[in-house]
Amino acid sequence: MASKVKADLSEFFRLAQPARPPCRIGFALTQLVEQEAINLTAACKADKGIINSGAIRKWLADRGHDVSVSAITNHRNGVCSCAREA
Ligand SMILES: [Zn+2]
Repeated sequence: MASKVKADLSEFFRLAQPARPPCRIGFALTQLVEQEAINLTAACKADKGIINSGAIRKWLADRGHDVSVSAITNHRNGVCSCAREA
């Protein structure tokens, strides 16, 4: 197993009780190392016919993040909690 040290912000999210906590993808982005977060962001923006959400689900599962296809699809469609901040 990889022994990468990752920041775990879950306790801060719970304490801060943000009005709009990030969705599962947004949360995963805070947990991944920078290069992986960049890759995930790019994958989410890629053509859904080329990189489907099932592939992203598997990619996340390989990194310890159990995210449903529907949560990934919502994030890609900009209808999740973290996409509305802009
Ligand atoms: Zn999101």
